[in-house]
Amino acid sequence: MQGEAGALLRAWVEYFRDLGIHDFYRRGEPATLAASEPEAGPAIRIAAVEGGRFANQAPSRQPISQTISVPPVSLISFNDLAPIPMAATPPAEREAALRAIQEQIGDCTRCPLAYAGRHKIVFGDGSPTARLMFVGEGPGADEDAQGLPFVGKAGQLLNNMIAAMGLTRAEVYIANIVKCRPPGNRVPEPVEANTCSQFLLGQIDVVKPEAIVALGSTAATYLLGVRQSLSSLRGRWHRCRGAKLAVTYHPAFLLRDPRQKVETWKDLQMVMRELGLTPPAPKNT
Ligand code: URA
Repeated sequence: MQGEAGALLRAWVEYFRDLGIHDFYRRGEPATLAASEPEAGPAIRIAAVEGGRFANQAPSRQPISQTISVPPVSLISFNDLAPIPMAATPPAEREAALRAIQEQIGDCTRCPLAYAGRHKIVFGDGSPTARLMFVGEGPGADEDAQGLPFVGKAGQLLNNMIAAMGLTRAEVYIANIVKCRPPGNRVPEPVEANTCSQFLLGQIDVVKPEAIVALGSTAATYLLGVRQSLSSLRGRWHRCRGAKLAVTYHPAFLLRDPRQKVETWKDLQMVMRELGLTPPAPKNT
């Protein structure tokens, strides 16, 4: 099997190995890999061979045929994932702490996105001591090529939004829910987002921003652990890992519907008030 289907099957084999399922073979019709079913996850027909084992299961003498669906991944708030460290990483050590997380990620193959045409892992960008952090959904083609978040068209708009707040890109920290590009820029699957979340959580805990802006509903969903409409989450403060969290539209959405820039500016002004930021003075022409 070649191409994307082969890559996905390889990824799921890795995934089942991580679950303790080591031996399996295909029976009957080829397995369907339904990568675009966000709730149920792909169903894959596998059979443990004699002596093989499923997680928590004694070795079997008989081949067992079983259809395994990757369980629907429940939403967990970032606040519940791991205790917030009691002591903050000292500012001087944050760069090294972020590098350590990046090294831990390595040439990651923990989820199917590693096999779905990824070129570069997009770790994050910006100041390790930023007061403000932006979290997007996942890298697009430009980010995948450069290994940096928000460097394409949506990134240019994000840069403008940051500048309008009186900040530079180098003063904030930017990351995504997933660090590898989902094929065709699709929304990350829950298993991909949840697999990757441990690293974003580490980045948030190291940088310790005072405020986080969730860009779009994927970021809001995984950071807050709730699946609610963007409009119901905007315009008020939430909490994430000790930081205040605001939700606003994703810049890519704003490129498609520029009318929502006015609403976005309201969200950013709420953040500016919280951080005591003032917009830059207009330039004389
Ligand atoms: N969209 C995102 O969500 N993140 C990026 O890094 C680029 C585009």
